[in-house]
Amino acid sequence: MSSETAKPKVATIWLDGCSGCHMSLLDTDERLVDLVNAVDVIYSPIVDPKQFPEDVTVTLVEGAVSSEHDREMALIIRKNSKLVVSLGDCAVTGNVPAMRNAFKTTELLDRAYKENAAHNAKHPTVGLSPLIEKAQPLHAVIDVDLFLPGCPPPADAIFTLITDILAGRETQVTELTRFGR
Ligand code: SF4
Repeated sequence: MSSETAKPKVATIWLDGCSGCHMSLLDTDERLVDLVNAVDVIYSPIVDPKQFPEDVTVTLVEGAVSSEHDREMALIIRKNSKLVVSLGDCAVTGNVPAMRNAFKTTELLDRAYKENAAHNAKHPTVGLSPLIEKAQPLHAVIDVDLFLPGCPPPADAIFTLITDILAGRETQVTELTRFGR
């Protein structure tokens, strides 16, 4: 086996998130080079493969579980990942996506696609996975190994978490972040 194939395999994904947690990951700046040298990023919005791979060492999940597609992806992630990290407040608590939980999904769709539409006021029939009734934090759907709060978690916290995981250290990363920051 080559040293290249022996690298830990890392995946990142956003479900119902705003991409801000991924932006914070990119804010690790030049340390990204260290990370990329230490791991194989095999699935992520920044590498864009089409299917979630098998045998992933660690997957960072941004965003809440809000649709049938999100739920299917969460189950696949859990099945194929040794470690799953809830990345950011939306994954950890539901946060912004869960603000819609006071309303029925039909009310939301009516508001978005009918009441506020100047033309063609109707629900979309393609391209939108059905919403589940309540947006949920990731751990409500699958077992989660590590939680990293923050909106978004600071780049230092994300970098520390990843390097601690790679080193096999117990992480104290929550000292670097807090909910809503
Ligand atoms: S936790 Fe904040 S930054 Fe991350 S996806 Fe949710 S709203 Fe965006």
